[in-house]
Amino acid sequence: MVDAGEALRLILDATPLLGKEKLHLHDALGRTLAEDVVASESIPPFDNSSMDGFAVRSADLGEASGPKEVILEIVGESSAGNTFEEQVHSGQVVRIMTGGKIPDGADTVVPIEHARVMNEDHAGFNEPAPAGRHVRRAGEDISKGETILRAGDVIGPSQLGILASLGYVNVRAYEQPLVKILATGDELAEIDAELEDGQIRNSTSYALSGYVRQAGGIPSLVGIVPDKRKRIKKRIREALECDLLLITGGVSVGKYDFVKEILEGLGVEVIFWKVNIKPGKPLVFGRIRQALVFGLPGNPVSTGVTFLQFVRPALHKLLGRRVQPAFRLRATLEHDVAKSDGKRHYLRGIAREVEGHLRVSTTGSQSSGVMSSLSKGNCLIIVPEQSTGLKIGDQVDVEFL
Ligand code: AMP
Ligand code: MG
Repeated sequence: MVDAGEALRLILDATPLLGKEKLHLHDALGRTLAEDVVASESIPPFDNSSMDGFAVRSADLGEASGPKEVILEIVGESSAGNTFEEQVHSGQVVRIMTGGKIPDGADTVVPIEHARVMNEDHAGFNEPAPAGRHVRRAGEDISKGETILRAGDVIGPSQLGILASLGYVNVRAYEQPLVKILATGDELAEIDAELEDGQIRNSTSYALSGYVRQAGGIPSLVGIVPDKRKRIKKRIREALECDLLLITGGVSVGKYDFVKEILEGLGVEVIFWKVNIKPGKPLVFGRIRQALVFGLPGNPVSTGVTFLQFVRPALHKLLGRRVQPAFRLRATLEHDVAKSDGKRHYLRGIAREVEGHLRVSTTGSQSSGVMSSLSKGNCLIIVPEQSTGLKIGDQVDVEFL
């Protein structure tokens, strides 16, 4: 048996990076950059105005103040996309719109609200305007040659915007892992079946498929197999054509729990079996050729918790993301929690803010069969191995779901 930290370390050590592929920007959302992006241009590419108003030579307004208005001649217009191509000489101004290029000769912008437009050709100004005011400088956002995005960055909407502004049509990203999901158990029926006595529907495969998709993988449900050694072996062998295989059920020490033994028989290098946690203790992890294999306990809560704690970080690594430690916050516990088994517990909790402080309570029954505890909760409360129980008012770590 390993502890949770050791299990995660072993998993990440065994997890490779997938290959790289070229993607159109349309298909890149949520993927991970496989290359650094160095700006080939400056953004913005030219000095432009951040206000609607007048592009002015600041020297012309040196004398302007209150009663002493300076009147200047309006000689043209520079709007976004329609540049004023001539020189602005002393005594002249150009109407300018937000995004319009600052014409040669002008060095500052006076907002329209601060000018007195007299007619088509003249405007009056009664305060000085220092050079550079309301001017967005070329390269002020991104300067040419700067590494603006890095391999391992997740491509979100703002990254798409940066890539588009630099003229990227395609981008190199890591491939998405194909994740096969196989359910084992004599009791399992398809979700559209009439249940016979003793049967339950295969729910965890569907929950897993959602978790996998949310984490950036491509889930593929490969069905249900009963607790028969030969049949399980055959189905696992077929399912190993993937990057990650998730098998549920049959990993514990029951009479019909064959999965670990079968994995070994198929040549899977079992890296660990059993983790000192609750729920999810029987978790098994191994590797064969390109594929990682997890045997997850079939109880819906155990499956969910072990996915979030151990499978998701592996998926993120496969996807090329930088795997960060889970983000935790401290919260005040609202009731006592009993514990004496030396395991790390992941309780399903409901955290909420009360007068600026985070408070958390459990969702009720913590039995690993109570699937609704995960859907009711918004966080996991982490109770460390050495804890011998918690009291109301204690500070605990929570990880939001
Ligand atoms: P096992 O991990 O095979 O010992 O199963 C533990 C519990 O989880 C048993 O109550 C099973 O009936 C249940 N279980 C196993 N697989 C599934 C599944 N795919 N969907 C829903 N419940 C399951
Ligand atoms: Mg079973």
